[in-house]
Amino acid sequence: KTIFKSGIGFDIHRIDKKTNLGLKLCGIKIPFSKLIGHSDADVGFHAICDSIFGALSMKDIGFYFSNKDPQWKNKNSRFFLNFAKKKLIEHNFWIVNLDINFICEKPNISKYRSKMIKNISKVLNIPKTIISIKATSNEKLGFIGDGLGIAAESIVQITNEKTY
Ligand code: ZN
Repeated sequence: KTIFKSGIGFDIHRIDKKTNLGLKLCGIKIPFSKLIGHSDADVGFHAICDSIFGALSMKDIGFYFSNKDPQWKNKNSRFFLNFAKKKLIEHNFWIVNLDINFICEKPNISKYRSKMIKNISKVLNIPKTIISIKATSNEKLGFIGDGLGIAAESIVQITNEKTY
């Protein structure tokens, strides 16, 4: 019997205003102020991880990779996404589609969309055609509108039948 499951993920990190370089979103280096976090603060990858964990009825990313654990200090978040991929394989599930939304005033996400899709496709070993990267500003409202942080949300659907 074919089963479908969905998962949602959300993450937000504060922008380090003292820098103007070092941002990494979905593994892609972007010439913009970096984000502050225990790991490399890749808000995109973190949201994707949590959506996959959700779809697999697992716990949140902080449970598996605590921000109190020195082991994960400055860790490349590709490691976390690889862990999520392994869990999918262990549970015999395949991604049907993955939809990611960034919420920020800057940088201009669309310039990096195709690079991000290519990278996610590589890390998760899924077709580019089932990945969507979207972005919205916060219309200058609140702390995201003030340019203090970048947020990302992700939704994923998974199935127990291999389709690619
Ligand atoms: Zn995070």
